[in-house]
Amino acid sequence: MISAHAHDMEEFNMELSLRPRYLAEYIGQNQIKENLKIFIEAAKLRGEALDHVLLYGPPGLGKTTLSMIIANELDVNLRTTSGPAIERPGDLAAILTALSPGDVLFIDEIHRLPRSVEEVLYPAMEDFALDIVIGKGPGAKSVRLDLPPFTLVGATTRAGMLSAPLRDRFGVVSRLEYYTADELTYIVMRAAELFAVEIRGEGAEEIARRSRGTPRIANRLLKRVRDFAQVQGDGVITGELACEALERIQVDRMGLDEIDHKLLLSIMDTFAGGPVGLDTLAATVSEEATTIEDVCEPYLMQIGFLQRTPRGRIATPHAYNYFGREVPGA
Ligand code: ADP
Repeated sequence: MISAHAHDMEEFNMELSLRPRYLAEYIGQNQIKENLKIFIEAAKLRGEALDHVLLYGPPGLGKTTLSMIIANELDVNLRTTSGPAIERPGDLAAILTALSPGDVLFIDEIHRLPRSVEEVLYPAMEDFALDIVIGKGPGAKSVRLDLPPFTLVGATTRAGMLSAPLRDRFGVVSRLEYYTADELTYIVMRAAELFAVEIRGEGAEEIARRSRGTPRIANRLLKRVRDFAQVQGDGVITGELACEALERIQVDRMGLDEIDHKLLLSIMDTFAGGPVGLDTLAATVSEEATTIEDVCEPYLMQIGFLQRTPRGRIATPHAYNYFGREVPGA
């Protein structure tokens, strides 16, 4: 499995080098950017920590990148961790007490924080304080420790999974949107430049169109297309070459891949268009229910191919048309 590991490392290094470092380099999400710019400026003027920020939206839209940018723009340190990595209250206490004033603490997948840890976070966020219980039983005492003021940046794919008390403690709550084809074209052009790959406008547009509104996917597809350009072409990514390469790796003209196809076809063909429950669907296409819910479905809903109803998932007439099937009852 050495090659798989090397591949992961390459992907990881690529993500690092591609990440924009300042707000001005961060493409799209204009509303969020403009607001953050003001909040950051104001916090700096007052010499205070920025209010806590919650970023939510599907994976790969730039939440982690934005947290790094926030720390850069504030000129403070960034500490990165994730919900599942903080298992006990003591783990969080260790992280919090090690922060310097004004630092940014980024917690990815914050909806997966254990409840006991979440409770430590409330006074930390609200009063920059840590309540520690010393001793056990009737003799136990609670001691309050002061923490340096800090900014928590939380990221989640699902704001709905956050408990209300946690959500309410964020001063800034921003939902990241899917990127437009133009924005993604720009992102692809920029990445190609960083990699010194020659790309034509149509090549970048083709990759952008098939990237499901997601920068991480755009960067990944660019890398695969570059392989084809180098091995089968003259190294230049043209529109035609991009189109051929993407067909070869089974990314269709809407950016749908094998899993999306399986998912939609099983709703249409096996379950008569739905409604079908998530778990049944997951079993049918042999995918994790959470992958389907967090990764596949948001995009299929965005493009109007799928609907979630209280009774389950439904394939829309758009989906039937796209796959050349007759819309039932039409
Ligand atoms: P998330 O944390 O939401 O899953 P990331 O912040 O890890 O997403 O972004 C994935 C990749 O997409 C990054 O490595 C970065 O190169 C790229 N990216 C994300 N947002 C932007 C953007 N606005 N402009 C340019 N590149 C971006």
